[in-house]
Amino acid sequence: MSECRLCPRFCGADRSKGPGSCGAGDKIKVARAALHFWEEPCICGSGGSGAVFFSGCPLGCVYCQNKDISDGRRGAEITPQRLYDIFFELKEKSAENINLITCGHFLPQVIPPLRSAKENGLGLPVVYNTSSYETVSAIKSLEGLVDIFLPDLKYISSELSSAFSACPDYFERASAAIDEMFRITGKCIFDENERLISGTIIRHLVLPGHTDDSKAVIEYLFGRYGNEVVYSIMSQYTPVIKNSPYPELLRKLTAEEYDDVIDFAIGTGIENAYIQDGDSAEESFIPDFGLEGVFPEP
Ligand code: SF4
Repeated sequence: MSECRLCPRFCGADRSKGPGSCGAGDKIKVARAALHFWEEPCICGSGGSGAVFFSGCPLGCVYCQNKDISDGRRGAEITPQRLYDIFFELKEKSAENINLITCGHFLPQVIPPLRSAKENGLGLPVVYNTSSYETVSAIKSLEGLVDIFLPDLKYISSELSSAFSACPDYFERASAAIDEMFRITGKCIFDENERLISGTIIRHLVLPGHTDDSKAVIEYLFGRYGNEVVYSIMSQYTPVIKNSPYPELLRKLTAEEYDDVIDFAIGTGIENAYIQDGDSAEESFIPDFGLEGVFPEP
């Protein structure tokens, strides 16, 4: 934490003195820990996913719909012991799994309570939900702790990743990280109720005006993983920003754009994919980050 190089930003921040480029200091910071029903059906099951939303994000996309927490402002600092307790509280609430949402910048603080929880009978699959802007060594450190990886692959184009996420090396880093996730999980395994027990679901959010890059992402992924992973091709882009030098980011994705990408995906031979219906770009996807579940109930 005194010279942080956890993520590919390698910003070297002394997080004991203040936040790094990801907005995170040296204490775990969480904005919400609650049952969540907006993930893919095989993740939510009937009980909901036990989602823990961490504050801060190494990627910092300009169009982020969770900006309140991704820049590290919202949330409350908690101890590793409190995080351990949260895992079991979510289990008691009938969570199908524990879903760690964007916690790569807290791995040294999250791994010990996660390991203890697994050793002490947590007994739920652990989901690691990430933008994929991660180092391979960070992903390697999760072997034996994470059962399901839920990575995004946002762009292939370095021009787009530079413009929208200020990281020209996004594809190089993310593709290597996803390779490592797939190595750890192998192909997807479901239980008798079609809940995912282990495996990798790769997400891609189609951005308005950039369907060519979406097609390049899908072509790359299918060429690499075939039907051994599940794909989730999302149309839910929500224009929360009011000004941008990229006017296409100020509107929703059109049905024609999304259909074009889905037709392309089907044409590649993808068989295992979640797609969304036309009403998905609603702000209801944006959770209330009012600290639900972060502190013990009185
Ligand atoms: S995790 Fe945060 S502080 Fe560490 S290198 Fe990445 S951006 Fe910098």
